[in-house]
Amino acid sequence: MGQHCPVCEELEVADRLIARDRVIGVYHMGNIALPGYLVLAPLRHVVRWGDLDRPEKESLERFRVLAESVLLGGDGVRKVYFMSFGEVCPHLHVHCFPRTRWMADDLSEREGVDGPGIFVHYRKALSCSGTPPEVRAMVLSLRKAFQNGLEIRV
Ligand SMILES: [Zn+2]
Repeated sequence: MGQHCPVCEELEVADRLIARDRVIGVYHMGNIALPGYLVLAPLRHVVRWGDLDRPEKESLERFRVLAESVLLGGDGVRKVYFMSFGEVCPHLHVHCFPRTRWMADDLSEREGVDGPGIFVHYRKALSCSGTPPEVRAMVLSLRKAFQNGLEIRV
């Protein structure tokens, strides 16, 4: 990708990169104080799901399963939301948002947990500048967990 693409750049930046294989990478979301908020994306600048090739599809799914497994093993995480919008950046990417128990406690409604409401609320409430220490520590921890998970599942 010759033009400015935030996802292409994130996949090249090493400080928040968690893991990658030949075709897919996973990095920690920046500028948010929510340890475990990850992004999965093909290394190629792919815009549509239909443009993913078979190895990318298979690897993306493998990373998604691994992200869910690793994040659910974290402290207080009860669900992992997977979302793909492509509104701000067209490069196909999947937000892996760790929904914790305290988020649900704070924002539960009579009908239950409002997942989209929680996502929108905490993306704003926890936004920050740069990479806070708790996220930096989580990056190191997740690198080990993903490395172990990828070795087991290869
Ligand atoms: Zn890109």
